Amino acid sequence: MSNYHAFTEAEAIEYARGIEGMFPEGAQLVSREIGDGNLNLVFHISDPVSGRSVILKQAVPYAKVVGESWPLTLDRARIESEALIIQGRLCPDLTPKVYAYEPDLALTVMEDLSDHIIMRRGLMERNRYPLFAGHIGEFLAKTLFFTSDLAMNQQEKKLQVKAFINPELCKITEDLIFDDPYTDSPNNSFDVHLRDAVESIWADTELHLEVALLREKFLTKAQALLHGDLHTGSIFIKPDSTKVIDPEFAYYGPMGFDIGAVIANLLLNYAGQEGWSPSDADRADYRRYLLDTVRDVWTEFETRFRALWNEHAADRMAKTPGYQDLYVAGLLQDTIGFAGAKMVRRIHGLSHVADIDRIEDAAVRERAQRLALAIGTALIKRGRSARSIDEVLDIALSAT
Ligand code: ADP
Ligand code: MG
Ligand code: MG
Ligand code: MG
Repeated sequence: MSNYHAFTEAEAIEYARGIEGMFPEGAQLVSREIGDGNLNLVFHISDPVSGRSVILKQAVPYAKVVGESWPLTLDRARIESEALIIQGRLCPDLTPKVYAYEPDLALTVMEDLSDHIIMRRGLMERNRYPLFAGHIGEFLAKTLFFTSDLAMNQQEKKLQVKAFINPELCKITEDLIFDDPYTDSPNNSFDVHLRDAVESIWADTELHLEVALLREKFLTKAQALLHGDLHTGSIFIKPDSTKVIDPEFAYYGPMGFDIGAVIANLLLNYAGQEGWSPSDADRADYRRYLLDTVRDVWTEFETRFRALWNEHAADRMAKTPGYQDLYVAGLLQDTIGFAGAKMVRRIHGLSHVADIDRIEDAAVRERAQRLALAIGTALIKRGRSARSIDEVLDIALSAT
């Protein structure tokens, strides 16, 4: 990484000018740094005359959220670009095209998706995306199945596990999702009005046991190549198209962690509708849409995953009668438990979601926060005994 330095906008333009075949000779390029994340620079480089554009995503060697005091490996740019390439091979319509990766600069050059919007924003605007469940079900089924021992030669898969060792980003998840929210950690951050609810989570030993078991799965279950950060801020969407971005947390882990992330973020928006829906009737209606989408995400995933398994199982043992049913039953349980853990950490952990935090009225925000905690903790506790995705819908509908 000796040649590494973080780009200025002028340097980003100079770099983009050098990409073969990208922009017309002598074009007057415009650069905007549009990163809204905490970890990376994202330059949008465009030529107003030809209308052509490209995205340069560059990792910086520290987390932006706390300045330079929290160092973070640049290797995550390699992980991200390699994961994007694998996901793009399996799901070309559901991922940005990668044009180049520059290891020295921790830089990925990719397709500009600015004609899409970030799904979190789309849900806060109460848009509906009827194709989303099918699209994300396909992304999950293909990326998880084809990178697992069910589809791969097991020796080749082990080499992939090694290529995607991602200890520093996994540690962020291990701390922020599976530890801090369950104890009085200085990393937590929450509104004072929530203290009683947070303290009851810190005291809930039955909950802690379930979280310890989920954490063990995250630490040890190298089932498939995960995206690792599949919240609605990592999904670009428009009515006819879905694109999954930002897999820098990719590693070999339990499949349910990715599926659960999608479901958790739909349910965080469900809780947030406390503040975003203009009337009770509109709220009930949009929440029904979100719950239907939760069910459809699971169903679309399961149907496709089983079909891939039936058609592409790697070997005789993968075809053992009864194995698929038990495997899928376990995936549903993992999904529900991880979904709960991903909700809880967004309410009083370090990093929150706009669906809840942007609600201005403190009393309304508090209702949304309590609802998300009630749903999240109930999902964590239900996970190990769950048998149907309908249980998630029942938990959301009965939570207050
Ligand atoms: P981080 O890892 O820092 O969260 P992201 O990959 O999520 O970075 O990108 C941050 C933001 O930059 C996105 O929310 C989006 O607004 C913008 N962005 C990222 N990739 C693209 C892209 N391919 N096309 C257009 N905008 C993008
Ligand atoms: Mg991001
Ligand atoms: Mg972001
Ligand atoms: Mg990211």
